[in-house]
Amino acid sequence: MQIKRSKGSSRTKLLSLSSVFQELKTAMSSPSQPEVPAPLDNLEIQYTKIFINNEWHDSVSGKKFPVINPATEEVICHVEEGDKADVDKAVKAARQAFQIGSPWRTMDASERGRLLFKLADLIERDHLLLATLEAINGGKVFASSYLFDIAACIKALKYCAGWADKVHGQTIPSDGDSFTYTRREPIGVCGQIIPWNFPLLMFIWKIGPALGCGNTVIVKPAEQTPLTALYMASLIKEAGFPPGVVNIVPGYGPTAGAAISSHMDIDKVAFTGSTQVGKLIKEAAGKSNLKRVTLELGGKSPCIVFADADLDTAVEFAHNGVFYHQGQCCVAASRLFVEESIYDEFVRRSVERAKKCVLGNPLNTGINQGPQIDKEQHEKILDLIESGKKEGAKLECGGGRWGNKGYFVQPTVFSNVTDDMRIAKEEIFGPVQQIMKFKSLDDVIKRANNTSYGLAAGVFTKDVDKAITVSSALQAGVVWVNCYMMLSPQCPFGGFKMSGNGRELGEHGIYEYTELKTVIMKISQKNS
Ligand code: NAP
Ligand code: MG
Repeated sequence: MQIKRSKGSSRTKLLSLSSVFQELKTAMSSPSQPEVPAPLDNLEIQYTKIFINNEWHDSVSGKKFPVINPATEEVICHVEEGDKADVDKAVKAARQAFQIGSPWRTMDASERGRLLFKLADLIERDHLLLATLEAINGGKVFASSYLFDIAACIKALKYCAGWADKVHGQTIPSDGDSFTYTRREPIGVCGQIIPWNFPLLMFIWKIGPALGCGNTVIVKPAEQTPLTALYMASLIKEAGFPPGVVNIVPGYGPTAGAAISSHMDIDKVAFTGSTQVGKLIKEAAGKSNLKRVTLELGGKSPCIVFADADLDTAVEFAHNGVFYHQGQCCVAASRLFVEESIYDEFVRRSVERAKKCVLGNPLNTGINQGPQIDKEQHEKILDLIESGKKEGAKLECGGGRWGNKGYFVQPTVFSNVTDDMRIAKEEIFGPVQQIMKFKSLDDVIKRANNTSYGLAAGVFTKDVDKAITVSSALQAGVVWVNCYMMLSPQCPFGGFKMSGNGRELGEHGIYEYTELKTVIMKISQKNS
């Protein structure tokens, strides 16, 4: 997708585009392409410290860590490295802010909503800066960051803001002379550990529902991508949130992250990242204070294309389903099952499509594939590609690194992939498409479900009966029919099986940040 740049921003129009689906739709159906302003030149990094009680702190240990631009491998800046001692300070501040009678606890729910709306307005004001920062720090294609990530953050935050004064309890017709009602109360101090693939969007998905319901939070951004979260700290202060309501501790997982998940005075931990670390978080919660845990983990999502599908649509969605953001999406359609009779043609078109990707610095115009996040991920992806070659998959295109600077991987397509190969089983988190062949509906359902993951799935067919049968049978938290990656804050999102616990966003995601209390009052006589 070539995206035109202009000096002026067509913001109102762009904000209506909030999902990848709409990007695809625009790219596929509209000759007039959305306009994107140029990224900010010479962006100065203003915030590199730990944010506690609406103030900036040095790390207790005095340590800092480097933040790298993955497109150039250059150090952008150094950030204060939070550890257990800093997490303890943040927990104290968050606990204080959550005390009964505090400004936060006595604030009207509608006022909490107003603060969140204000924060969304500040993101909108600083849209260009945040999009540029995401591109430099996270290797995100600037146009995509500008059009989708930031716009999706604003929408999700406004969705949560709207919920703040709509979190209702119920009255219950309980037995006996009683008047009984339920209250949905905030859980308390929430630790939130986020990944590097959507640094700002995951930050918003975490703080939005938590604050809307009246909790206080300690956020640990991923070590690779702390910069947009720290910029958000300045906006949180500017919006007028009381001190201690939001605290941000950049640092490493095994230190700062582990301090959060094992903390005795944190009431809930919410995590997005690998399944392996998700298990550690749940174990730490169990070994400490049984804090509530919600997890959004990895996936190896099946995408099934039947022979009766619209081929152009299926090829395009399947391509974007796996290549979007360099394949670094938890929902990546990384197991593509194509019906036998259209298999060869589908592979031919998918290869043609992958070869159209334009790689380069994500700040440059016309680029639609940036670098992988870091050296470790880069090496992991190249290793998996090698395993595909060795295990007998047919390499149709790509298959190696791109350029000699930055963590780029050539867009890669494998055909003749079988279910036992590593590339068909392990989460690659890179621009690598695996195309497998299937013969019958029953067979493909079994194979699609034959994984420990269950995050997402896709089905392409014009037959409504087949679409409903398959989407009911698939074990996945979200099933897309004749589309892929169509996400929206009104819809609950999360995984079956080892892809997670709980849901984010939608009504269910809001309630994940509440405790349900039942109040039973003895009265002299009840009347029906
Ligand atoms: P990760 O280690 O699971 O990182 C996610 C977050 O958890 C980061 O903030 C990380 O801190 C933190 N963390 C790491 N170890 C921890 C621990 N022992 N206790 C508490 N927190 C801890 O993911 P990764 O290493 O960056 O990526 C590895 C793989 O995970 C990827 O290849 C991909 O398969 C998967 N992944 C999935 C998602 C998703 O959206 N579901 C996102 C990212 C990665 P650090 O900043 O120190 O890493
Ligand atoms: Mg890590």
